[in-house]
Amino acid sequence: MKSVLVIGSGGRCHAIVHALHKSPSVGKIYCAKGNPGIAQWAELVPIKETDINALRDWAIENKIDLTVVGPEVPLSLGIVDEFRKVGLKIFGHTQAATQIESSKEFAKIMMQKAHVPTAAFRSFKDYSEAFDYVKSRPFPAVIKYDGLAAGKGVVIAYDLEQAQVALQDMLLNNTFGHDKVVIEDFLQGPEFSLMCFVCGKQVVAMPLAQDHKRVFDGDKGPNTGGMGAYTPLPFITPQEKQFAIDHIMQPIANQMAEEGCPLSGVLYGGLMKTADGIKVIEFNARFGDPETEVVLPLLESDIYPMLYAVATKQQLPSLHWSNKAVMGVVLASKGYPGKYEKGSPITGLNDYDGIVYHMGTAIHDEQLQTAGGRVMIALAITDSLSLSQQKVYQQIEKIHCPQLFYRKDIGHWAFEENTEQTVVIDGKQMALQIKEKVREKVDSLISQNKRVPALAVILVGDNPASKTYVNGKIKACALTHIESHLINLPETISEQELLEQIETLNNDDQIDGILVQLPLPKQISTEKIINAIAPEKDVDAFHPINVAHLWNAKTDLVPCTPKGIMHMLREMQIDIDGRIAVVVGRSNIVGKPIAKLLLDANATVIMAHSHTKNLEEITRMADILVVAVGKKHCIGKQHVKRGAVVIDVGINRDIDGKLYGDVNFDEVKPLASYITPVPGGIGPMTIAMLMENTLDCYKLRNK
Ligand code: NAP
Repeated sequence: MKSVLVIGSGGRCHAIVHALHKSPSVGKIYCAKGNPGIAQWAELVPIKETDINALRDWAIENKIDLTVVGPEVPLSLGIVDEFRKVGLKIFGHTQAATQIESSKEFAKIMMQKAHVPTAAFRSFKDYSEAFDYVKSRPFPAVIKYDGLAAGKGVVIAYDLEQAQVALQDMLLNNTFGHDKVVIEDFLQGPEFSLMCFVCGKQVVAMPLAQDHKRVFDGDKGPNTGGMGAYTPLPFITPQEKQFAIDHIMQPIANQMAEEGCPLSGVLYGGLMKTADGIKVIEFNARFGDPETEVVLPLLESDIYPMLYAVATKQQLPSLHWSNKAVMGVVLASKGYPGKYEKGSPITGLNDYDGIVYHMGTAIHDEQLQTAGGRVMIALAITDSLSLSQQKVYQQIEKIHCPQLFYRKDIGHWAFEENTEQTVVIDGKQMALQIKEKVREKVDSLISQNKRVPALAVILVGDNPASKTYVNGKIKACALTHIESHLINLPETISEQELLEQIETLNNDDQIDGILVQLPLPKQISTEKIINAIAPEKDVDAFHPINVAHLWNAKTDLVPCTPKGIMHMLREMQIDIDGRIAVVVGRSNIVGKPIAKLLLDANATVIMAHSHTKNLEEITRMADILVVAVGKKHCIGKQHVKRGAVVIDVGINRDIDGKLYGDVNFDEVKPLASYITPVPGGIGPMTIAMLMENTLDCYKLRNK
């Protein structure tokens, strides 16, 4: 069994110690200096985290197998170099590698060299040069002190006056004790954190988390070390996370290795999802706080082999994480991040159902007391973020302390609606315009004394839904001045009789389009009927020859619903090229042809169906989501990425006769950028396209 020394004393270290406590490889845990919460699982060592020589000597004396460094200060003081000099195994970056956090300028240079997306920047030593630069840039401007500033060395200046004060503080008044600033363009979008275990060029990512930096609800007030965090993040798709790993974390790890200062600890990416994609705000060279407190409880693997492999430059193991949702709320001393009192008694922790990590507590006269700005972080771990949020705020009431306060809105980004307004696409209006154009063309034929296009619609039996659809089609013919021939056949008609009827229509010169309303009675093979319709009269474009033409990009006739969807996307000027489209449902009528058309428009297309595992994960990748399943409300908010275009093809009729889509419209609308309603979305567009197709068949036959 291994003995481990953890260096640090906050909530982050409590979470690390907790993970080590669960490790079957670890026997004894020590923590310098730790806190009363950590003391539950580790023996506290009264050595300051900055007293590197004393820590090193203590580790040698106590035959420590592995030391794990929590905070940034000992790393930047070179604790890792010092320990390694004497052959001690230690998890954390060398002093040189820690520059990725301790020097903003160094980090920016690494990003530039590795082509990692980040905001434009310049660094300055001279006050007046910095002032001139900031004057020349758009506001707000981000002014960062170039050195460790305990999370407080960043000012977002909204005007020149604020910029001037910040620059004076950082360059003239020596508030933080150094003399360099980085001035960056301001990026906009939700921020989030991605922590990775990194050893040289090996990168193993942890679950994403989001911190809440501002002290008050609604992200107001001054910056703090973090007032709460949660995981997972519904607004970041799996592929956006993969982008961050492949294009940010991995290239930085590679660059650092190539620069001769390889990473050997946690690389923390402070990232932002901007309108132009994921960009880097900053890097930290250690576990984030409070992100670690919400991420590490999800680790199902033994943490020790990972920490040891990083420390000893071995092959990193893969890790298993629970997919539960964690919400963590920080209890802070009133007045924080400004002046606050210490020594206020805390009670009720034993009644808390869940984990509470200590951040700044002390015990005096056997009484737990506040001893820091951020005092503890209370967690709830459940199956969903909303349940975790509910639970953490219920449970937190059980913790009593007159001097503590906490934010009431941790996790708000996860539940926030799309800030842009959702466009509900009016298919009826769009369809009307198409039908009017068809009518103009038909009228021009009439004015030239030419024959009018004619559509034959065959309805077998008296299924009420089919009757409604057929009526809609006949009405559209009337509106467009296309001639319609409704052929109503009995439910009991034989397949042969129907085939003969189709043959008659095929041979009828006065008929341009033939449509057989589906579904057909059991005695008739749909396939045989579709195959019997003459390809040049096949207004639905279901005949194998027309299907083949579509897949060969010879698109004379395109099936009506997919054609309507494409028309709608183009009409709304929705970007398709290079975007990810997910099609749910793989019918020959909708799913497959729309996938082909989207591919032709240069989308990356994923098809999902009734056997697709973890459908949510797939659909949440979609920039454009097309659903044609026929299952009421099978797509809810959990399936949809914020900002997605959602096209609902499904039509489901309730017992009361009301129509519903496959998409839960009320739930999904707040997330979507564009959405089609049911009814009134794709339905009318399908009929409008049927009119276009009839006209196209007429033209094809009269070429
Ligand atoms: P369909 O022949 O009814 O087939 C449905 C498809 O959905 C199948 O490919 C099936 O997959 C898939 N599916 C079923 N349950 C699923 C689930 N839980 N998750 C993912 N996929 C699932 O298809 P359709 O003709 O395309 O019709 C689909 C819906 O669209 C129906 O409600 C229909 O009324 C409507 N529709 C509307 C219009 C319009 O004009 N608005 C036009 C056409 C269709 P498997 O192949 O794996 O079984």
